[in-house]
Amino acid sequence: MTQEIGGFAALELHPNIVAAVVATGYEEPSAIQQQSIPIILAGHDMIGQAQTGTGKTAAFALPILHRIDPSKREPQALILAPTRELALQVATAFETYAKQMPGVTVVAVYGGAPMGPQLKAIRNGAQIVVATPGRLCDHLRRDEKVLATVNHLVLDEADEMLKLGFMDDLEVIFKAMPETRQTVLFSATLPQSIRAIAERHLRDPKHVKIQSKTQTVTAIEQAHLLVHADQKTSAVLSLLEVEDFDALIMFVRTKQATLDLASALEAKGYKAAALNGDIAQNQRERVIDSLKDGRLDIVVATDVAARGLDVPRITHVFNVDMPYDPESYVHRIGRTGRAGREGRALLLVTPRERRMLQVIERVTGQKVAEVRLPDAQAVLDARIKKLTNSLSPLVADAESTHGDLLDRLTADIGCTPRALAAALLRKATNGQALNLAAIEKERPLVPNNAPRGDRPERSGDRPDRGDRERRAPIPLAEGRARCRTALGARDGIAAKNLLGAILNEGGLAREAIGRIQVRDSFSLVELPEDGLEKLLTKLKDTRVAGKQLKLRRYRED
Ligand code: AMP
Repeated sequence: MTQEIGGFAALELHPNIVAAVVATGYEEPSAIQQQSIPIILAGHDMIGQAQTGTGKTAAFALPILHRIDPSKREPQALILAPTRELALQVATAFETYAKQMPGVTVVAVYGGAPMGPQLKAIRNGAQIVVATPGRLCDHLRRDEKVLATVNHLVLDEADEMLKLGFMDDLEVIFKAMPETRQTVLFSATLPQSIRAIAERHLRDPKHVKIQSKTQTVTAIEQAHLLVHADQKTSAVLSLLEVEDFDALIMFVRTKQATLDLASALEAKGYKAAALNGDIAQNQRERVIDSLKDGRLDIVVATDVAARGLDVPRITHVFNVDMPYDPESYVHRIGRTGRAGREGRALLLVTPRERRMLQVIERVTGQKVAEVRLPDAQAVLDARIKKLTNSLSPLVADAESTHGDLLDRLTADIGCTPRALAAALLRKATNGQALNLAAIEKERPLVPNNAPRGDRPERSGDRPDRGDRERRAPIPLAEGRARCRTALGARDGIAAKNLLGAILNEGGLAREAIGRIQVRDSFSLVELPEDGLEKLLTKLKDTRVAGKQLKLRRYRED
């Protein structure tokens, strides 16, 4: 809608960048983007205090893309990130935002991958280099001129880089670049060590900090659930089974996400609709009216589209994607607990977003308790309760209207009333799983335990030893072993491909396979300990998405 496109267009970014951002589904710039983009566009040095989840990547990526010259085939911008994972994420973000800028190329430079192709990509004219400091220094040792043309430098998560011991590497990198460059530093915290770097290496920097006022939220019970990004839809479906809601609003970040999630909910039989900035005003009003009078129970919205939405029936808010700042969190959850009623707010948190959760807790002055996904027993109990609630008002007079029919049917069919009642229940519940074994079987690939970090492998970059991403692994169920393959999302692998391959080639029953976690550059699968070696031998030549699976037992220690 013009109003939201105006949000980004007003920032005076190149139209092709705005077009790519709008195509990504962003409706309006987040607070850190509003403030940082004009400063970086104007060529100033800047210190931005912001953490993951605020939209900080686009806050520097968009103005930097605007400032580079696509016709020059040489490195022009360098983004330093503490970990390989973040470097890849930032590089992907740049590629997305540069989709409509022909000639712009991005290279990610990190440890654990061969140096040759990285150096070649730089020499071939990548304008944007996203690197971890350790590996970049290795490149500098081979070619000290590699950064000579860089005139924009971003230090992303600067405090994390120092924590990981990259101080000396940073000094080497600073020296390898022209002094006239623009330098932008993002950090969640600004300890003395960061201020000292800023003093030495930034010129008259502007400061951007998203001020967070303390806000109170009473009458709303808040909880959070740790979940990996690719498991959010399954997690939402599991939560809906056990949450006793009247009407519910779910918040996501993009238009596409409103559509995807709303259709996943509809497919499961929920009365759900999407609400985003592309939806015309009269249609939007229809959606809100339907939510008010019960024709709809769930609305999946972006922040922009939900503005001013006031529906007293809303008992629950699900923050499926993290809000950009505590204010919008408070704003979102204020959609429930209207008119003095009690409300419940659930927040899905990915491993990288834990810090944002802490900020929300600090600003609201409240602890947001952790909940786990419901287990099969809880799902079963909730389903039976719903069935009880829907049938109990009917039993009072059903016998007077349908009692004779029951007698006739049992006589005609030649069965007991119990058998007939059971058949009717099966029909009425549409074959829904209503015993533990069946529920276990249908449960999606979501963890019963919270994820504990999203990078349980060494990156090859030196300071990995203290890597904050290495956290305690998820405990394994008894009798299961964890196995690893080097195939991941970037090889086009999804959990269902791995599952299919292992089921087919390994001859296992579905229940024998535990959690499957697909990460960017690897995947983990839980398999039965019993007979594991034989199974791995059987799977020796298995290929998935055209590549060798090479599954190995994986021990994290
Ligand atoms: P970051 O804080 O940079 O890690 O960004 C967090 C997430 O927010 C990423 O998934 C981005 O794609 C998304 N994002 C960033 N800016 C916007 C925006 N203006 N509208 C919607 N989503 C955004």
